[in-house]
Parts: sequence; C-alpha cells; structure tokens
Amino acid sequence: VSAPDALADPRATLRARLAAHRRPPLADVLRRRGLGSYRGYGEVLAALDALADRGAAVAVAGRSSRGEPVFALRLGEAPGRFVRTSVVVSAVHPMEWIGLETCLSLLHRLAERPPAGRAVVVFPVLNPDGVLRVEANLRAGARRFVRHNARGVDLNRNFDAAWDQKSVLQALFPRLYCAGEHPASEPEVAAITRELAPLRVDRAISLHSFGGAVLYPRASSRRPIADREEHRAHARHIARAADPRPYRVTACSWLVPGFTATGLELDWFHERHGALSLLVECSRGGASLHPSRLAEPFAWYNPPHVDRVASRLAAAIEPFVRGDPSVTLNPSEEPAGTSPA
Ligand SMILES: [Zn+2]
Repeated sequence: VSAPDALADPRATLRARLAAHRRPPLADVLRRRGLGSYRGYGEVLAALDALADRGAAVAVAGRSSRGEPVFALRLGEAPGRFVRTSVVVSAVHPMEWIGLETCLSLLHRLAERPPAGRAVVVFPVLNPDGVLRVEANLRAGARRFVRHNARGVDLNRNFDAAWDQKSVLQALFPRLYCAGEHPASEPEVAAITRELAPLRVDRAISLHSFGGAVLYPRASSRRPIADREEHRAHARHIARAADPRPYRVTACSWLVPGFTATGLELDWFHERHGALSLLVECSRGGASLHPSRLAEPFAWYNPPHVDRVASRLAAAIEPFVRGDPSVTLNPSEEPAGTSPA
C-alpha cells in the first residue's frame, strides 16, 4: 500500500469514489436493450458501502493504472499469518459482470452471517479501469469488446505462475492475451499480490464468465496437480449446485483441448499460496441467435436474468468460501459432460 493510501481512511476513500462515479441507474439503460439489471460502477461502490455498514471492513489494496482504488472487503476473523483465509476475486476481465454480481450476492450472504474461525478477503473489482470503460460503452450504446486494463494488459495473464512460458494461444494472439512486461507488472495484480503476501490463503475462488464451468489448476500445463481429487470434490459440489443443468468440471488446461494458458490467478493461488483454487465460468452467457444480442459483446458474457443466476451461484460457492469440508461424491454421481481430466 502506497503511503497516501496507508494514511487515508479507506471508508472515506470509498465514499469519495462513490461520489465521483455516481450516475443514474445503469439498469434503466440496459433493460431497454434486454441486457439485464446490471449495476454500474458507482452502484457497485454503493453496495460495498452498504456492506461496510453491516460489518465488512474496507481496505484499499492499491491503485489501478488510472488511479482508481482497488478495494478489498474483509469479513469474519481479522486476517493474519495464522488465520485461515479464503479469497474471492471478480471483475478481473472487465466484461464479466455476472461474476461481479455473484460476488456481491455472496458478500451479502457473508455479512448476514459472518464466517467463524476464518477470514474472507474479497476483491470485487480487480480491474476498475476496465469496468468503467465497459460502463461508458454501455451508456453510449457502443458495442465494444474489452478484455484488458487501461494499459492493454490481460490481468489474468500477468500473475507470477509459469508467466514466461507463452502458450500457443498467447503466441497466436499476443495483443488479446498480452501478459505485461513481467509478472505482476500491472498495478492491479501487484495490489492483490502484496495484500495477500503476509496471509495464510488456503482457499481461493475467481469469478469469470461465461461457459458454465468450474475449473481447477493447472491452466499452464496438462500435468495433473498432486491434490487434484480434493479440488475435484469441491468443484463438483459447486457445479451441481450452480444450475439445474450442472456445470462442467475440468482442469483449466483441458477446457479447450490442446490449449494451455500461463499467468493465471488460478495457478498462482495454488502455486504461491498452496491454496485450493477454483475458477468459475459463471452462467452460460446471454447470447442468442437474435441479431441484437449476437452483435452485443456484453450479452455474450452476461445473462439477462441477473438476480436468479447470481443468487444461485452465490449459494453454490458459499460453503467453499466458508471453509466447509468437501462433499465427496462417488463416481456415479458425476455430472454429465464432465471431462476425464
Ligand atoms: Zn474471464
């Protein structure tokens, strides 16, 4: 944390940014276009402020490249070197708003009944500059695809996990999957890395979209991890609870056959912290064959029924975040479509 942030009151910082980003409800704009009642960035900050009123502690983990605070909310025990800690992160990729809404729904549940014997540290918006850019596009009616931070880096290729081993996709599409100049070169990734460095992180979950899948390490290689079965037990439990049609469960590197990816938070939580680490591709998106939705990138990633999807997903991941023991399934209970990874 830089000196000005360390000295400033994080709650005052939150309120100042809330005032700066206050706009009319974004849902009024989106509903007319069938895009669902998603909240704009100012409304998200208002939700965080309301959570702080209900006992969540607010911290500023760092600043984005445009100077927006990267907020962290803490619930349950105070985090420390000896306290088991769950981490939740969303809006790493700036268009994946159903992940952010799922995160807010989860925070609501955790504030209702604070976790016992464990700290939960939540980064609802790791990429504030990207989210603000997506919101500006939506309000202007501009149909743009946005994946990066303000410096053109894919934050989920910038973590220190096999960072220097470029995958085939990264070699083919160097700008789309731009990994930055070095691991944690981006201030947003540096912020979460630094915030978690002194903590005992043993569970982590990152909320993306779309595709209806619960992924576990590795992303960087098809080599299985030693604690694969424990990961799979948690992933299967979430996959079954997430949707009436269970999500797919697979190692990240098996999601698209033949393609691996490096620098992901999923691998970093597992390698650096030794955590049980999951990545949820929330929902199956909102695309349809209707031309207005096909031409709208926001609809690819985000289903129109926000509350129904987000509240069900939040309930599905809540036991994992609270540190509940895994539910071991016998193989006959395996959801259909599960990969053999
Ligand atoms: Zn993503």
